[in-house]
Amino acid sequence: MSIEINKNKCIGCGKCRDVCPGTLIALGEDRKAFIRYPRDCWGCTSCLKECPVYAISFFLGADMGGTGGRLHTEKEGDILKWITERPDGRVIVTEVDTRESNKY
Ligand code: SF4
Ligand code: SF4
Repeated sequence: MSIEINKNKCIGCGKCRDVCPGTLIALGEDRKAFIRYPRDCWGCTSCLKECPVYAISFFLGADMGGTGGRLHTEKEGDILKWITERPDGRVIVTEVDTRESNKY
């Protein structure tokens, strides 16, 4: 279980590093984020939600019942979109209104 960081998208803001409860993420000399201990990531998804440029995705491996898809988030106002890209190319979008997040 781990995240992937797209270095081409990363702008080096450090938000993912700051929110990771396990301090697993660091910024390199190139000011790009990287995960230091991928095996220790427990998939809380905090870093995905904080990244302003959606550079982080979460790998849905067999260890968590996935089939190799990828998950990332995008925000539109108060709507948080959970976007799953399946290995067969299908994309599933689940929208959550963050103003009502206590409902879920
Ligand atoms: S998913 Fe959670 S534990 Fe894993 S790197 Fe991101 S913030 Fe850290
Ligand atoms: S939050 Fe996103 S843009 Fe900022 S350092 Fe992390 S990966 Fe890069």
